[in-house]
Amino acid sequence: MTPTMLEINSKRLLDDLAALGAIGKTAQGGVSRPALSPADLAGREWFEARAAEAALDFAKDGAGNLSARLPCTDPDAQTLLLGSHLDTVPNGGRYDGALGVLAALEVLRTIKEADVELPVHLEAIAFTDEEGTHIGLLGSRALAGQLAEADLAQSRTEGRSFDEGLARLGLSRESVLAARREPDSLAGFVELHVEQGRRLERAGIDLGVVTSIVGIRSYWLHFGGQAAHAGTMPMADRADALWGAAWFVRQASELVMERFFPGVVNCGEIELEPGAFNIVPGEARLGLEFRHGTEAALDEMEEALLALAEEAARRYGLTLTARSTGRLAAAPMAEPIVEAVEQAAGELGLSYQRLISFAGHDAQALSGITPTAMIFVPSVGGISHHPAERTADEDVINGANTLLHTILRIARA
Ligand SMILES: [Zn+2]
Repeated sequence: MTPTMLEINSKRLLDDLAALGAIGKTAQGGVSRPALSPADLAGREWFEARAAEAALDFAKDGAGNLSARLPCTDPDAQTLLLGSHLDTVPNGGRYDGALGVLAALEVLRTIKEADVELPVHLEAIAFTDEEGTHIGLLGSRALAGQLAEADLAQSRTEGRSFDEGLARLGLSRESVLAARREPDSLAGFVELHVEQGRRLERAGIDLGVVTSIVGIRSYWLHFGGQAAHAGTMPMADRADALWGAAWFVRQASELVMERFFPGVVNCGEIELEPGAFNIVPGEARLGLEFRHGTEAALDEMEEALLALAEEAARRYGLTLTARSTGRLAAAPMAEPIVEAVEQAAGELGLSYQRLISFAGHDAQALSGITPTAMIFVPSVGGISHHPAERTADEDVINGANTLLHTILRIARA
């Protein structure tokens, strides 16, 4: 780093992380702040107090997204968003989400204290319910205009507890749907987050520059054979549905490793009919899910995996039906912002590598309406959604300084 470069206040950021980590702290040393719970509310109040302390403007939208704002002199200017989420999974860690929100707050404080004038408003945002206690990416999808009444009816906690949680924040389903922001009012979004994997740690690299967030497709593969007596039916005459399914599972993993790296495939569920020790399986229903960073790669994987399932059926004399059970589109990050992250990291003398995020993030929703990028910092041992989740102080500071200089670059572009 050159001596004249602006730097965040690292002690203040680390103190904030520790203070927020004490809210909803569990006996195992983790954090439980499920969205809209009393602990989440306490975390929100704490964040609001930090914004007030820093003399930043504060706002809460209809989806409960919290914003600390540093306005510029032009009231008609666009807003550059940076942030992540304050909610956690039950007994989760101190860094997932929290790091991105607190680093965003620290970036605003640093820019304000240095009296740097920018042609955009800056907004450090904490999105509601990223983890999906009620509805995954609730706040970011609401802001991006990607939610409808039907989505709100599918709360994982069922209607009542969701509505009670919203009411605790003075919100309603109507207000959530009204939280949509005009894409033209936004200049972009940058999210700093822990990697939650161990690619960076293994490679000894300081930062990950996310190029896309994975798309996910899933299928039920139904192999049909002939149920028969497990003793009297000669082996050579069997149409064992599990033989086809089992062959497919092994071949699919090899196919994906060989042809579709870094894509992943998983067969995580299987049901056999009739399903007994002494009956040859007549039917096997196999749950197939695969993920990759682009829709083009997903299309190719889909074609190859379905062809492989057909081959499995042919080999073992089975029928095959494949039924799609859902798809989530891959979310590409915006190349100019990706490059701004790389330039900022380079300027700071940090090593970086491009990678795909295999977990979902608020950036996924935002990428649909504004140029978006993500910065990853290493997770010790790749551990996440667990009390032992940790990122080294040095990496926290590197990530926040990279966020700061990325924001300065984009704002001035
Ligand atoms: Zn997260």
